[in-house]
Amino acid sequence: MPKGFFNVPKALNEPVKSYAPGTPEREQVLKAYKELWNTSIDVPLYIGKEQIKTGNTKTMSAPHDHQHIVGTYHLAEKTHVEKAIAEALEARKAWASLPWEHRASIFLKAAELIAGPYRAKINAATMIAQSKTVHQAEIDAACELIDFLRFNVEFMTQIYQDQPYSPSDVWNRVEYRPLEGFVYAVTPFNFTAIAANLPASAAMMGNTVVWKPSDSQVFSAKVIIDIFKEAGLPDGVINVVFGDPIMITDTVLASPDFAGIHYTGSTFVFKEIWAKIGANIHTYKTYPRIVGETGGKDFILAHPSADPIQVAANSIRGAFEFQGQKCSAASRAYFPKSLWPAIKAEFDKEIPTIKMGSPEDLNNFFTAVIHEGSFDKLVSYIEQAKQDADAEIIFGGGYDKSKGWFVEPTIILTTNPKYKTMETELFGPVLTIYIYEDAEWSSVLKLIDETSEYALTGAVFSEDRYAINEAAKALENAAGNFYINDKPTGAVVGNQPFGGARASGTNDKAGSAQNLLRWVSPRTIKETFVTPVNYRYPFLG
Ligand code: NAD
Repeated sequence: MPKGFFNVPKALNEPVKSYAPGTPEREQVLKAYKELWNTSIDVPLYIGKEQIKTGNTKTMSAPHDHQHIVGTYHLAEKTHVEKAIAEALEARKAWASLPWEHRASIFLKAAELIAGPYRAKINAATMIAQSKTVHQAEIDAACELIDFLRFNVEFMTQIYQDQPYSPSDVWNRVEYRPLEGFVYAVTPFNFTAIAANLPASAAMMGNTVVWKPSDSQVFSAKVIIDIFKEAGLPDGVINVVFGDPIMITDTVLASPDFAGIHYTGSTFVFKEIWAKIGANIHTYKTYPRIVGETGGKDFILAHPSADPIQVAANSIRGAFEFQGQKCSAASRAYFPKSLWPAIKAEFDKEIPTIKMGSPEDLNNFFTAVIHEGSFDKLVSYIEQAKQDADAEIIFGGGYDKSKGWFVEPTIILTTNPKYKTMETELFGPVLTIYIYEDAEWSSVLKLIDETSEYALTGAVFSEDRYAINEAAKALENAAGNFYINDKPTGAVVGNQPFGGARASGTNDKAGSAQNLLRWVSPRTIKETFVTPVNYRYPFLG
């Protein structure tokens, strides 16, 4: 047992490297990219101490060059999922009773491995698997992941330090026990950092995990699990299974020991999982924790007092970085009529300069969307907009899937504030703009609040403090992360705890102590020093 109250290293945000021409990091990441591109990897399931190759495989390719195979991965059968659950429960016995400083050490070591020797590899893997530019890979796979690991260790200690009051004759203590059972982590394709954080945050608090990554992120998921193992994560603490998401989920949710889900992905899938948990509730030994961060229909609102150049620049970044595939990406915008000509002039100047292509060419700001399903969905909305009388494509609208899943940065102008693409999450590089009469400012706030089922992120641009205050108040429930004079993307761990409400999720704020609290079940211990020896109270006379 610990013989000291240990302080962990102060969590600091990892500085973002520039990758400017001539920098060593640029050379290192391009070298790592080439190496990964020219070797084929074979990814097993990670279950207990075994790395299992089932022989039933799928290939992996890069979204920007779908004919180039970068590896294969093995698919789980039901029996593998059951084995993963059994191994998680077995590993829990030792892991849950390991003093916290050892858990902290493992994840702090993983952070340093990513910051140093594995930085180029994890970034290159993310550039290949998810078609991120080097900057997008750096802020995700390197910096955000490092920040999650460092800050969560600090948050863990803050939670443990949160203790109740004790009078002199009694000592009250709270122990933050891991959940009784195992945790299921289901992760999306779009952030390597989220993929790592969902299993890691639960494991950090003493839980053991069955992790199911997205089929489109297996390539970079392998780098994560290998780093965790090198950092000393014991076998069975995080078990990784790939394959049919419904079969895997149904098998996990059928276990009486299922104690919680840490999910990020689309809203529909999360609601389906929630319904299944509800239907199975009599099966479980404990009420499962349900934590899910899901879709968004994130907005940018400009007030007539806003600076049009700032509005245009932040709309381009907010809507088109990583091809609009961030849950926080701006996908609907509301601009005042008086400002629109100046904003449009900026778009005319800037959007044609955006270069699209492989992330290996560092001149490209923009690459491919994740897979054919996403490409086809985006094309269908773009084609529909070309037909609809209340929509007009004013930028982009082109697409080409011959080599990669390329969809141009596209802007739709609509006269209908409830047009389909103002309401529905497309998860791609499509921004829809509605121009409002300046005098309608206050009713536009109501319109934004009521247009979509989501409430993830949103931004207001204004130089007028009264307008900013009015917007912040009127849109109080329209976004879990609200930005003033900034784009609605790019939340930083430890700075802007992230998550949305309404259909966007349970708002358990990734990258904060609030999230970690969901992975513990506190036990209160009251110890009395002088114990009563007579049942009679003084009032009995
Ligand atoms: P997705 O819903 O397709 O997949 C997410 C995960 O769920 C994957 O692991 C997938 O295999 C699994 N899955 C798919 N169908 C399933 C089913 N029927 N049962 C159980 N599991 C199933 O999402 P995606 O395309 O990987 O990611 C994009 C989505 O994630 C967007 O909606 C985006 O807004 C959301 N997202 C939200 C946040 C946030 O913090 N709010 C962050 C990132 C992504």
